Amino acid sequence: MKHISGRVEVIAGPMFSGKTEELIRRLRRAEIARQKIQVFKPSLDKRYGTEKLASHAGSEFEATPVDEAGEILDQVEEGTTVVAIDEAQFFDDEITSVVQALADRGIRVIVAGLDTDFRGEPFGPMPVLIVQAEQVDKIHAICIVCGDSAPRTQRLIDGKPAHFNDPIVIVGASELYEARCRDHHEVPRDTTEERDNH
Ligand code: ADP
Ligand code: MG
Repeated sequence: MKHISGRVEVIAGPMFSGKTEELIRRLRRAEIARQKIQVFKPSLDKRYGTEKLASHAGSEFEATPVDEAGEILDQVEEGTTVVAIDEAQFFDDEITSVVQALADRGIRVIVAGLDTDFRGEPFGPMPVLIVQAEQVDKIHAICIVCGDSAPRTQRLIDGKPAHFNDPIVIVGASELYEARCRDHHEVPRDTTEERDNH
């Protein structure tokens, strides 16, 4: 078996940019290379059932849901050569030391996640993971408004752009996320109260 040295690869971009698709593509190739693969995702991501990664285009790969980054270290088995982590932005900061420890052990670690939140701000541990990585691929989606390349995620609440300070959970509101280019990404800065009075 070909030796693959430890390394960290990050796949970053907005929603719909193909991060999970790209992660699955790399894992399929690692399978062909007869690597021993383990895949993890945060258990709060329940969009497509808990035991799988699933891309918006329909491809799937088995994954183990974990509540905290530290659990990944406990669960990685002897002989595993490739560890993949999807939706890394949702993990606590410990994910950065977990990823480093795995790569130091000689494991190829492939991490996918949103680099920015709906406000365009750095998302959780992603900036540190990007700096730690040997390889970073920043990929874009397609802007829903104009068809240009889209590096950002637009959050819409009841059809209107979410404000910078809107709470993460709004009970009773319909929420939608879209990929947008810089020009069409809107994050109004005034408060929720002011918006309601408009
Ligand atoms: P991510 O994990 O980054 O959210 P996925 O890998 O789940 O992305 O999905 C990527 C797929 O989503 C694309 O191949 C395409 O079929 C679909 N898609 C839907 N909306 C868009 C969009 N606005 N831009 C690009 N792809 C989109
Ligand atoms: Mg994804």
